Amino acid sequence: MARGNDASDPRLHGTDIAESVIDLIGNTPLVRLKRISELHGIQCVLAMKMETTNPGGSAKDRPALEMILAAEREGLLQPGGTIVEPTSGNTGVGLAIVAAQRGYHCVFVMTDKVAPEKVSLLRAYGAEVVVCPVAVPPEDPQSYYKVAERLTVERQAFRPNQYANPNNPLAHERTTGPELWAQTGGRITHFVAGAGTCGTITGTARYLKSMNPAIKVIAGDPDASVFSGGSGRPYLVEGVGEDFYPAAWAPELYDDVIPISDEESFLTAREVSREEGILIGGSGGMAVAAAIKVAKQAGPDDIVVVLNPDSGRGYLSRVFDDAWMANFGFLRECDECIAAVLDTRGDTPSLLYVNPSHTVRDAIDLMRANGVSQLPVCKNTPPFAAAEVAGAVDELDLLEAIARDASTLSQPVEHVMGPKLPTIGVGQKVSLAVEMLDGAPALLVLAGGRPLSVLTRTDLLTYFEVLSNG
Ligand code: PMP
Repeated sequence: MARGNDASDPRLHGTDIAESVIDLIGNTPLVRLKRISELHGIQCVLAMKMETTNPGGSAKDRPALEMILAAEREGLLQPGGTIVEPTSGNTGVGLAIVAAQRGYHCVFVMTDKVAPEKVSLLRAYGAEVVVCPVAVPPEDPQSYYKVAERLTVERQAFRPNQYANPNNPLAHERTTGPELWAQTGGRITHFVAGAGTCGTITGTARYLKSMNPAIKVIAGDPDASVFSGGSGRPYLVEGVGEDFYPAAWAPELYDDVIPISDEESFLTAREVSREEGILIGGSGGMAVAAAIKVAKQAGPDDIVVVLNPDSGRGYLSRVFDDAWMANFGFLRECDECIAAVLDTRGDTPSLLYVNPSHTVRDAIDLMRANGVSQLPVCKNTPPFAAAEVAGAVDELDLLEAIARDASTLSQPVEHVMGPKLPTIGVGQKVSLAVEMLDGAPALLVLAGGRPLSVLTRTDLLTYFEVLSNG
């Protein structure tokens, strides 16, 4: 249903024709997650707020509209003006839609790490996309922060800055909250959502708690994000969690913040898509995983609503790609998999590694003490994310470097390390490891998205030997 229309064109009166796509932002439906409830033994009503039905396919259409309308009122945007925002995601789409309707030019600044489809998507809406190298520090004039700053000044542009803009949470206070209250007849007892800028959870919480302070508001959060007590180290779920506290962070409004792993987020996204026929992304999977935990504890008359921010369509090459999932160790492809090889190795210690700042001598001592010939070089301390692997050192390479220059022994390994070891998932086929070891000295085994162990040809030989004896 269109949000009614105040169209000046009398031909639209009495019709359900929206005046423009902007009038279709919000008023998203609620749907019960009946099959998920059955599968997880949930007694209460568990329902999902379907933000995918916004014109841009995400919850971000709401703050995009609110931020632009406020900028017009405050004189920050003149007719025909320009909007500059560093974003590659859903906020960009929302801004591009509203800008198209209201005659503004959008410039989105992003890094070259972003998938090409995301660039194409924003360009399809008529936006200008400036791609900056990811491999430069933030203070470099070419960095995407600096380029966004420069373009904002040069083009006399409006910068919405969703992380600091109060109109971001306000959009949800004005629309999402009242919709949930009306759609549940005021009987909503729990609201669950992921948090990135915190606009969704904070704005919605403000409205719901003003109507009934007993309503519980719960954030689902990537387990590495600072919101749930993590360190802000890398994780794979997109759009949620942070390594800092945005302006809208309001812990006094949240009754709980539940940490959820990448693995649980992705597997839940796949389960909801498969079981309910509702295609959702990784952050939606994360929110549903948190909602399932909340709903299991809730009373039979409670109504738990989880907000799904966007569609799984944007994640087909990751969350919904079996090979990608298996390579990170999120899926088991077979019975006779890499896990069985690791089992035959017996009492192998946990992952052996060096930090980039450790000396070559440290690396050699560790290899010698453990009888291994390769070590991954990882930043920080365990548990590592796959993204924290910086490279690898190999006995033979170190030997050659030291033979050339004995002072190499006291140098940090980052000066001499080689490329990262190829990765294989703990649930992938043994035959794949055999193939891969043809061109690599060793493989790095990932489980749940994290480095678990190094796998060598000797490990495979031992495994086949045990198999043939057993
Ligand atoms: N999921 C996805 C995919 C998102 O893009 C965002 C926005 N960053 C969120 C969840 C979280 O919403 P918010 O920024 O309102 O906290």
